Amino acid sequence: MKLNGKTIVVCLALAAGALHAAAQQSDPLHAWVQAKDPAALQAWVQERLVAEKADVDKLIAVSGPRTVENTLRPYDDAQNELALASNNAFLMFSLADTAAMRDMGQKTTEVISTASTELALNPQVYHALAAVPLPANDPATRHYLERTLLEYRLAGVDKDEATRAKIRALQDKITSLTLAFGRNVADGTLTVKATRAELAGLPDDYISRHKPGPDGMYTLTTDAPDSRPVMSFASNSALRHRMYLAYLDRAFPQNEQVLRDLLVARQDLATTLGYAHYADLATADQMSGSAANVQKLLDQVDEVSRPAARREYDELLAFAERRQPGLISIDDADASYWMEQYRRAQFAFDAQSVRPYFPYTQVQAGILATASRLFHVSFKPVKNAVVWDASVDTYDVYDQAPGDAGKLLGRIYLDMHPRAGKDKWFSSAPVVPGIRGRQLPEGMLICNFSGGAAGDPGLMEYDEVVTFFHEFGHLMHHILGSQGEWSGQGGFNVEGDFVESPSQMLEEMFHSTAILQSFGKNYQTGEPIPAALVAKMNAASAYGRAYWLQRQLLYSSYALQVHDQDPAKIDFDALFRQDQERFSAFTPVAGVHFFATFTHLEGYASNYYTYVLDKVIAIDFFSQFDANNLLDGPTAMRYRRTVLDAGATKPAAELVKDFLGRPQNMKALETWMNQEFQPLPVNAKAE
Ligand SMILES: [Zn+2]
Repeated sequence: MKLNGKTIVVCLALAAGALHAAAQQSDPLHAWVQAKDPAALQAWVQERLVAEKADVDKLIAVSGPRTVENTLRPYDDAQNELALASNNAFLMFSLADTAAMRDMGQKTTEVISTASTELALNPQVYHALAAVPLPANDPATRHYLERTLLEYRLAGVDKDEATRAKIRALQDKITSLTLAFGRNVADGTLTVKATRAELAGLPDDYISRHKPGPDGMYTLTTDAPDSRPVMSFASNSALRHRMYLAYLDRAFPQNEQVLRDLLVARQDLATTLGYAHYADLATADQMSGSAANVQKLLDQVDEVSRPAARREYDELLAFAERRQPGLISIDDADASYWMEQYRRAQFAFDAQSVRPYFPYTQVQAGILATASRLFHVSFKPVKNAVVWDASVDTYDVYDQAPGDAGKLLGRIYLDMHPRAGKDKWFSSAPVVPGIRGRQLPEGMLICNFSGGAAGDPGLMEYDEVVTFFHEFGHLMHHILGSQGEWSGQGGFNVEGDFVESPSQMLEEMFHSTAILQSFGKNYQTGEPIPAALVAKMNAASAYGRAYWLQRQLLYSSYALQVHDQDPAKIDFDALFRQDQERFSAFTPVAGVHFFATFTHLEGYASNYYTYVLDKVIAIDFFSQFDANNLLDGPTAMRYRRTVLDAGATKPAAELVKDFLGRPQNMKALETWMNQEFQPLPVNAKAE
């Protein structure tokens, strides 16, 4: 999951008079307990905002010297109220059983967002916080204060009134241009015509879903269910090329001006705030720290992955030549097709074949058991918990680490199966922030796995099992990392370009035959998943790692480059072509306008590199574990203590150093890319 960089924190200010009265009327942590209709939800959110306002007033009213207790504490309390409000509103928006409640969830989310922005741009609060002496012997609090002040400065709160007005206008402009860019992509469906013969290679159910027109031609759209199978399965290269060009042309030319205006506005914002360009502004509060550091990272990963990517391409081309004599190169429009053909021939792995070993209930129990051993915790089901839907599983999490065994750490809610009106994605989110001695953290998973209904075993694909563990990793990071003093220093509050590292690390665990066999048992016979099948699955999933990294470098470089120079002068297509020539062994196709549909430029802007950085860190983390004893060796506990338990009490770079004993480097990534799972010999028989 990806949370926005902004830290949303909170707490229960039980002492404050007005808040105390409100707290008596309702459960201040869980909106769903009392809010049974939209008006009640609105009132519950309003109570949080009234409490937040009271905390801010209390902070501003202080006379005499500023201290952590009289200034940072009410600030954190205000953030806690905002976090409770927005977490619960998001929960209702995503999960409530009626449209009216979901609408109110959305409506209140907007109100809370306005209140958050107001606090983030409040100069009185900023000056009060800036007057608090930095505590010398409390590094976590010191870091919290420094980071909070940095975020205020990045928002422009220390500028004069005219400059602040300009910043607000630029931010509004950026928001509306970002929305316009995304809308042009979402609305920009194009079509491609194909003869029946050109559909060869596509699955039968794909072909039967489409009916020919009076001229005998089939009409295919650029929407994913139509376009993806063409790119992977259609044996006709001309059709693949028509689809490729149409797909990348969905929002061209309309997005060219939108993107240029957006980049000009971002650049203007950056220089107004004192930065040379937007990429430096957007990395100032990240682990990377600057655009120059990002460039260094990309160069290092390039050096490591380039030879392996070349080798992968040469093998792929040799394979394609055997299938199609005379072929001398593969271009971008043909890449997916040949990779699919190669995967089938080389690994003889069918993703459907593992599903009988992964029925949902068994997987959930297996993931809880794996997490228990790895993190030294236990999960106790909470019977009769008040939840928003009867299907939600609730567990209390207890510490089982030496010295802390039996200590309650927090609560998790698992909302795991689809139902009408429910959010369709897979994510992990905080419900309640943690504050030591006052408020235990709570978090939830929102997923849409099969199963959950009587008689349905919910057989999962391997990728779904990995997704489950990935999201569960975010949840554990939140629970374990939110045991500190401040609601704004939980696991989800780490720098945005680090937040995926712990979860990506966990994904690697699920290549372990021992772990998979511990719960992957045939739902009818009880037979554990065969080691040979796991080996084949691992080999198939490991194929193309260097290619994947080089693609990520291509996108990361492009995202960085459009944000680190004068946007008025960029030739978007020429720049992309340059990056393609640098990062791709595949031949570029002439006439593509990649930028027009590169929607990551909206949310990530210059920071698409997050994927690359977190992969480097995740693989380096994983390399510290004993492959033969992943769960029970001493490394797991050391990892928990140094990386997860610390939450956001330190800069992420320090968490990495605390665990590795050094900054991350490329060695483990290089090994990961080049070995691990050897492909089976060509012509190996399928199981
Ligand atoms: Zn994630």
